[in-house]
Order: sequence, then structure tokens, then C-alpha cells
Amino acid sequence: MKRLTMKFGGTSIGSVHAFRLAADIVARDSSRWDQIVVVVSAMSGVTDALVEAASTASEGDDKTHRQIHDRLVAKYGEVVRELIKEPEARNELLLALKSLMDKLPQSCSELRRLGHRDPRRMDIVASLGERSCARIFAALLDQQGISSAAIEATELIVTDDQFQNALPKMELTQSKVADRLGPLLASGVIPVVTGFIGATEQGEITTLGRGGSDYSAAILAKCLDTDELWLWTDVNGVLTADPRIVDDAQVNEFLSYREVAELAYFGAKVVHPKTIQPLAEREIPIWVKNTFASAVQGTCIRRQTDGSNGTIKGITAIRDLSLLTIEGRGMLGVPGIAARTFSAVASTGVSVLMISQASSEQSICFVVPSDTSSRVISALEEEMESELSRGDIDKIWSLDHVVIVTVVGVGIRETPGIAARIFGAIGKANINAIAIAQGSSEISLSLVVEKADANHAVRSLHAELINSAQP
Ligand code: ADP
Ligand code: ASP
Ligand code: MG
Repeated sequence: MKRLTMKFGGTSIGSVHAFRLAADIVARDSSRWDQIVVVVSAMSGVTDALVEAASTASEGDDKTHRQIHDRLVAKYGEVVRELIKEPEARNELLLALKSLMDKLPQSCSELRRLGHRDPRRMDIVASLGERSCARIFAALLDQQGISSAAIEATELIVTDDQFQNALPKMELTQSKVADRLGPLLASGVIPVVTGFIGATEQGEITTLGRGGSDYSAAILAKCLDTDELWLWTDVNGVLTADPRIVDDAQVNEFLSYREVAELAYFGAKVVHPKTIQPLAEREIPIWVKNTFASAVQGTCIRRQTDGSNGTIKGITAIRDLSLLTIEGRGMLGVPGIAARTFSAVASTGVSVLMISQASSEQSICFVVPSDTSSRVISALEEEMESELSRGDIDKIWSLDHVVIVTVVGVGIRETPGIAARIFGAIGKANINAIAIAQGSSEISLSLVVEKADANHAVRSLHAELINSAQP
């Protein structure tokens, strides 16, 4: 028995045309697989609009969320009228969408009254895009004669109560998935499940973080022990660089779980970083494919890579970062400074993206998202108060507007001279590398550069390490 999980991203269901292509893909593959589970994102742009509605409402604005509500309802109306021809099915769907979208002004009014971005309500609002889309897609499949059922992941994925960035409780999720989806699949129904969302044990809606539909699909694929996971998106696979930066970025035919985890962690938006681990545990292959060119093979992610070990698989960039430095001659040889630094950072709940320490031990540098840097500096100043007053630490400061550019591939570990080529290319391009770190897995090497240099750095590294490696 062959079981497949497939997920459609925002652009893959971002228009009437895209919805039709996506439904055709399901129709085609339903004859090739015994069981299929579909996971859907919100239509592209919808989650952004919902978050804007909720945020502006929490700041006291009573108008924007209403405009966004009207715009989204009109958009769904147009899409449904184009897609669903049978009047009864169409009206039923329109009514279901209307009552769902009524939650938008309700929750926004509550946010406005509260006057802050209450995470519970932010999640209720943000969930509406996926919840609408699952209904539309299931109705479309039904119209094509494919028996399907729209399922809210609140019935399946049990999470902790970290609203806006919740983590699944896998055992509870596993049994819910088996109970709810098992019988549907056994009777030949294709469940169309909302990506991005889950619910606490108490039943409150949570979201898994932006871009989290990939993660939802991975959680379901693991719980169902599917044979493969296919992520349908708007590019031909995991490319050697962001195609918006590098025109001639190439498709990777194969990547290992570790390589893609590293690419995703360091900014390749095409796969959410949390997607990999659940699948790597069970060695479930992931394919990244293009909804708009469905005959193209795409990228296969699995445990082993092919014979192209030794090559560089991608260059990525993460933006809007700050490089924080703690500096002082009194730090030399003093035990515990690094531990205290990072526990102070941890107390703020901010995660550090990269660390680099000069061998002189007179400074520690690390990178955090810019919108957290003042919070982190305050925590550090408090922790190091006595060192600062004694002058053992001269200063704690932040360099804003920096970008981490990362080179990923097993080649970093296996090919002599790669580091020299990386720094050669950066030097030739006249770019200053402000800090450097090698990933613990030794398959990535990161440079911190100024924002203005970031795209130039990615292009130069791509030209040196990828284009010039072509036969
Ligand atoms: P989806 O909505 O299907 O999840 P996303 O917008 O989240 O799609 O991710 C796909 C986009 O990621 C692509 O359109 C591309 O612009 C961007 N991207 C960034 N880096 C890469 C990369 N290395 N390979 C492929 N796409 C990338
Ligand atoms: N719709 C959600 C977002 O825009 C989740 C996703 O697309 O994966 O973040
Ligand atoms: Mg995505």
C-alpha cells in the first residue's frame, strides 16, 4: 500500500488558475497512489493581510481590519464563483466561508479593546487563511469527482501553548491523526488538511510560525508514516540560491536532510527549517516540486546524496540582523563569561543565529534578529554590571543592518581549498567579512556582511563555487 502526503504552498493555490492546476495534480496522482493526504496553505498574501488586520486593530485602528475583511470576502467570492459550478455546492461553500470570515471583525474588535497583540487572538485571526482554503480545495476536488473532506488541523495536531510559534506534542498528535484520518483514508477519501495551525490540549487554536505549513505536512507525513512527502511550490525545487537574487540559480537534483536543514535554517525560504527532522527520523523522502511545471522532476531530499558529494549545494542569506559584541581586556582567561553571556541571552527568549569568538578571547560576537537587539543588550548589561563597572568589559554594542551569508554543502568538509576560494571570492568582490563561523556540522560556512553587500556577496560566491564548478 502506497501512501503520499502532499502540500500546496500559497502561490500554488494563489489564483483560480493555480487552484485548477493543484486539483489536476491531485487527480493525476490519486490514480497512482493508494492513499493521499493533502495539506494546504492560505492563498498567497492572505496570511500577511490577516496579520496586518490583527496588528492594526491592536493599535486602535478600527478601519483597516474591516477593509481587509471585505477585500478577502470579495476575493473568496470571486474564486468560488469561478471554480465551483454546481449552485448548491457553491452556496454551501460561500456560506461556510462567510461564517468563518465573520471571526475576523470579532477577534479584531477584541484585539482593539485589549490594545496589544494578544497572541491567542493573533492566532485565531492568522488561522483563517488556511481554514478557508481547505474548504475551497475540498469542494473543488469533490466537483472533479474526487471524494475529499476538509479537515481542520485543530482536530489533529496537538501543540503546546506557545501561541504564534507552537510546537507539536507528537504522541497525542499521532493518536489523533490515526483516529481521524485513518478511517477516511481507508475509505478512499482524500483529507484536505489546513497547514500552519494546531490546537492546545484545551482546544485553543495555535499556529506553528510563519511558513509553517511545510512543518504541518511533515508532522502528518511522520504520523501517517507516508512513503513520501511532496511540497508543491512555485519554483523547480531547492535551488542553489534564491532565484530573486541569482538569475542563473540551478536546481539541486538531490540533497541530504542535513544539507537542506542547513539551507533552510540559514534562510532558503523554500522549505521551513522544522520540516526536516520528523522526516529524517523515519527516512521519508521529500520532493520539492513546481505546481506550474509539474512534469519537472524537482529536488529529492533523502538520507544519502548522490555521487555529487563534495559539491556546494547553495548560498543563502538571512537579513535584518544585528551583530552584538562584548568586548574587554578583562575578559581574557576569565572562566564563565561565555556561559553567562548566553544564559543572559537565553533569558530573553531570543535565539542566537551564529556565534564567533576571536581567539584572543577579548571579545565574543553573536548575531540576533535586529528587532530583539535592544532587549538582549539590556539583559547583558544587567548580567555584566559589575564587570562593566570594573572596566573588565569595555562595552557591549550592536552593529545593525547586517546579513548572514552562508555557503552550504558537504564539499565544505570534503574538498580542500574551499575556504580559500570563499574568501578569495569575497575579497575579489571587495566585500568586508565582519565575522565568520563554521557550522558545527561542518557542512556550512557563514559570513556576516553589511546589508549593502549581501546580494553582491551571494552572487560572487555563487559564481565562484557553483557556476565555475559546471563542466
Ligand atoms: P510556498 O508558499 O510554496 O511555501 P514560499 O514562498 O514559502 O513558497 O517559498 C518558495 C520561494 O522561496 C520561492 O518562490 C523563492 O523565491 C524562495 N527561495 C529562496 N531561496 C530559495 C532556494 N534556495 N531555492 C528555491 N527557492 C528559494
Ligand atoms: N500561510 C502561512 C504563512 O503565510 C503558512 C505557510 O504559508 O506556510 O506564513
Ligand atoms: Mg513556504
